[in-house]
Amino acid sequence: MTSFDVFFDTFFSVPWFFYSVIIVVSLMVGSFLNVVIYRLPIMMERSFKYECNAYFNADENEAANAKNVAAPQDTFNLAKPDSTCPHCKHAIRAWENIPVVSYLFLKGKCSQCKSPISVRYPLVELTTALLSLWVAYFFGPGYAALAAVLVTWFLIAMSGIDLDTMYLPDQLTLPLLWFGLALSLAGDNGLFISPSDAILGAIFGYLSLWSIYWLFKLITGKEGMGYGDFKLLAALGAFTGWQGLPIIILLSSLVGAVVGITIIVTQNKDKNLQIPYGPYLAAAGWLTLMYAQPITDLYFSYVFGV
Ligand SMILES: [Zn+2]
Repeated sequence: MTSFDVFFDTFFSVPWFFYSVIIVVSLMVGSFLNVVIYRLPIMMERSFKYECNAYFNADENEAANAKNVAAPQDTFNLAKPDSTCPHCKHAIRAWENIPVVSYLFLKGKCSQCKSPISVRYPLVELTTALLSLWVAYFFGPGYAALAAVLVTWFLIAMSGIDLDTMYLPDQLTLPLLWFGLALSLAGDNGLFISPSDAILGAIFGYLSLWSIYWLFKLITGKEGMGYGDFKLLAALGAFTGWQGLPIIILLSSLVGAVVGITIIVTQNKDKNLQIPYGPYLAAAGWLTLMYAQPITDLYFSYVFGV
């Protein structure tokens, strides 16, 4: 046994310790996910503008291009610059950045200018901790729980970004897909599912939504979803296997339709209102990872009465 194995054996053999670590780490990660949700779309837009600029300048005048293309001057990534209050630019200090606790202590207001801090920050932190604990408890202390917690973090980041921007970044969907495929190689028959189920899940996950997209587009002339959605379902299929795909598609479109219709009816929005599909896919995939069988049973008993 290596020291690595000893560490994990101890970690896994004391459940209260395992779950406590999951909660504390997830709260901190939740705080980081707030940063990812807010900054990743801005980073992508900046690099997109920069590349377009570089491309067109290179086209017009090859020689001058090196001088003309200004790289973004100020550093902006997930770590820099430090977080500040959007109203008064007051730098957030460490004690003001403790997940959930700081929000409650500051009563939801900036310590300097007293302007309100969005309730979304503590909500994302709490949601991350609760969902991580839920999924960890479902699988019980072990590697499957750790992997499922990591999947949960990815899905929360993607859902937040999709709700904000109607976009699912490749930077998140693709690593999740590779992660799912890689885990299918663990042990004798994969951590969650076998390699063949995972590969078929990824392929048919992508193709199923891709086909629905084109069918919908040919019939109605509208775009019902985006390529990010295909990639997300491919990633989810790599975890649930092809067997999970019908459940994910049914569940996500059902809940998505109910929410969409509710928004249109209660808020008087017009029926061409666009709602992001990613969060519903993410939620449905997350539930299917744990409850594929109960959901299927429920569905059959409801639809066919068996
Ligand atoms: Zn402030």
